[in-house]
Amino acid sequence: MKFMKKSFKNMEPYFSKNITDGIILNANESPYNVPDKIIDEYIKRIKKLNFNRYPDMAATDLCNAIANKFNVSNYNVTVGVGSDELIESAFRATLEPNDIVLSFSPSFSMYKVFAELSLAKFIPIDFKNNKFDVDLMLKNIKEYNPKLVLVCSPNNPNGAFLEEEEIKRIASSTNGLVLLDLAYIDFAKYDYTYLGMEFENIIAFRTFSKAMSLPSIRVGYAISSKDNIDMINAIKPPYSVTSQSLILAEIAIKNYDLYKENIEKIKSERNRLINEFIKLGYEVLPSEANFIYLNISNDLYKLLEENKIYIRKFKTGPSRITVGKEEENNALLEVVKSYENCRN
Ligand code: PMP
Repeated sequence: MKFMKKSFKNMEPYFSKNITDGIILNANESPYNVPDKIIDEYIKRIKKLNFNRYPDMAATDLCNAIANKFNVSNYNVTVGVGSDELIESAFRATLEPNDIVLSFSPSFSMYKVFAELSLAKFIPIDFKNNKFDVDLMLKNIKEYNPKLVLVCSPNNPNGAFLEEEEIKRIASSTNGLVLLDLAYIDFAKYDYTYLGMEFENIIAFRTFSKAMSLPSIRVGYAISSKDNIDMINAIKPPYSVTSQSLILAEIAIKNYDLYKENIEKIKSERNRLINEFIKLGYEVLPSEANFIYLNISNDLYKLLEENKIYIRKFKTGPSRITVGKEEENNALLEVVKSYENCRN
């Protein structure tokens, strides 16, 4: 990359394999497609779309629908091209070179990339036995006076969940802004999106990419005070979310109830997978997300791939397996069991 500036040359770009065939358990997607009723309504609406016009920059109808679901005003909501775009906008809007960003670690890899793009200093706060180490975070907040504190709960990749009181403790101890990434909150025991409204220094980020089965349309949203939302809107590129995506996301959120059954299935399959792996002698962490986190040997990983079952293995060692449909999880367990039988 001859023309790239020096400070970016060591950055690790995000990479995820595009797999279209087999059992796809590597990207934390929903195994279920969008409910038919939503697609039918989308097709009706799309037929009337003025394709010759730019999208509504304010995303009025979608923001109203989101505001309605969370009982907030539409000026407390903004939407972007995935929650990625909004989280990055918050970084760009707040960070000066050499500012400090604190994040629990391991967590979503883009936080570090966004910090580097803003020439900020990224400091990871390690999990302690795979639990959020809030005391260590508070100690670092005191020491570094960070501009941003990243909290992803349930956390990608280990599925750990941070109780709401702990998030309040973090927000109350910092002068910085807490970016609360709730990409997987639909699969958790309870929701705390409202914290984005209750604390002037919290922005809650959510997405249509996981429980709502819509990663293909790339829509995320943020909920916070008007001041914080105005800040993100001031930074975001204009017209970034397409009219088609705005329409489909609006219909989806208005029909959230149609997703509930599948969300419950994913949660119960997650718990079944955890139990089955534990029975086979694996150490598996509790998870409040739609994935589980455990150590899979290289041989088993290869065997799964030979059987066209794709999971995510990190360079650091552990693997993350997205919860699939019941039959997909059965196929996964079958390969794991046959592998274990051969070993014993
Ligand atoms: N946050 C977390 C924790 C994620 O895992 C992801 C996607 N893998 C995102 C944010 C970004 O999601 P999207 O841009 O699709 O909304």
